[in-house]
Amino acid sequence: MKHIKDVNLKGKRVLMRVDFNVPTDENGNITDDTRIRKSLPTMQKLINDGAKTILMSHLGRPKGEFDEKYSLKNVAKRISEVIGKEVLFTQSLLGEEVTNMVNNMKDGDVMLLENIRFYKGETDGDMEFAKELAKLGDAYVNNAFGTVHRNHASVALLAELFPNDHYFGFLMEREVENLSYLLGNPERPFTAIIGGSKISGKIDVLENLIPKVDNMIIGGGMRYTFTKALGGKIGNSIHEDDKLEVALDLVEKMKKHNVNLYLPIDCIVVDQFSNDANTQLVKGDEIPDNWEAVDCGPKSVELFRDVILKSKTILWNGPMGVFEMPNFAKGTFGVAKAVAEATQNGAFSVAGGGDSISALQQLDMMDKMSFVSTGGGAMLEFLSGIELPGLKHMK
Ligand code: ADP
Ligand code: MG
Repeated sequence: MKHIKDVNLKGKRVLMRVDFNVPTDENGNITDDTRIRKSLPTMQKLINDGAKTILMSHLGRPKGEFDEKYSLKNVAKRISEVIGKEVLFTQSLLGEEVTNMVNNMKDGDVMLLENIRFYKGETDGDMEFAKELAKLGDAYVNNAFGTVHRNHASVALLAELFPNDHYFGFLMEREVENLSYLLGNPERPFTAIIGGSKISGKIDVLENLIPKVDNMIIGGGMRYTFTKALGGKIGNSIHEDDKLEVALDLVEKMKKHNVNLYLPIDCIVVDQFSNDANTQLVKGDEIPDNWEAVDCGPKSVELFRDVILKSKTILWNGPMGVFEMPNFAKGTFGVAKAVAEATQNGAFSVAGGGDSISALQQLDMMDKMSFVSTGGGAMLEFLSGIELPGLKHMK
């Protein structure tokens, strides 16, 4: 793995793919600039080297053509605030103006290209478009872990076009190192806590993790597909009928690999899907008809906490309940706190997933995990063990 920390890129035009797909309000103002700040160390390193940094990012999902709504204009402004230095930017797409701007860059300058998804070639993974981009640079840095699972030109093709001059940025390196550790031979016991609404989208991750973990805690909505498959009563709880067999296969596989499977033993059920609904506390596989489970109960949290505190390696992805409703956040928060406690005691913990991160932010516990992955979909695909397009040529 080639890392920019090992080289000095003075005077080089460095094309760097970043993921500055920041959340914005209806007026296009940036509401959270975490993704920009996460790349500060890498940008700083390139500036200090005296490289000419040309940043490429997407924002939202424009349809392959210029669309003011998805312009990176405000992102350029925010980058300059973060790095404390002017950022060159034009809304013009690739062509004479952009080429001239690049040619006039001085050592240490930073430029941002307009939204890379304004080009159809980007999402098509078009080599001709990648070659157009490559003309602007002498080297390539990939620091966009969040898009590493996309077969897009600026993510997957540029490393190949700079066979001797492609590097991982700091953020990318940390992601790959920490997630690779989980898939390697981490300290045991290794516990995976997987939740969220649905099993689909997480099947490959579960498959890949089973031979590696000692304990598997499955909570959230997805556990009801397992419970139904195992013959339990799930009332109106969320589940996927077309995944019952998959769930049984996974249970079998866990048995085969001597993985301890923990499902919530108690849960909170509601008579309607709202924070103020009537509730009951029932056994995890005895949900009454017409009631729906929205959180795991206190006994489950206690059981999970026990398992978590005995673990040396912990992966957590997916809330244990509908934590967006304050009355049903206890399971998720309880698990988050247990992981934080285990980490405090010396365990290595990794958390990830958009909603799991939002739960951690609500608890102000982001820094209580050993590592929080920034890539939701990318993290899940990485943990599925498949070779990701954005890493294929980053050797
Ligand atoms: P992440 O973004 O961390 O990967 P997911 O997107 O997989 O997590 O799942 C998060 C969603 O799962 C949340 O919106 C939460 O409300 C939902 N969820 C959790 N438990 C349940 C449940 N029992 N019933 C319905 N939805 C649930
Ligand atoms: Mg989510």
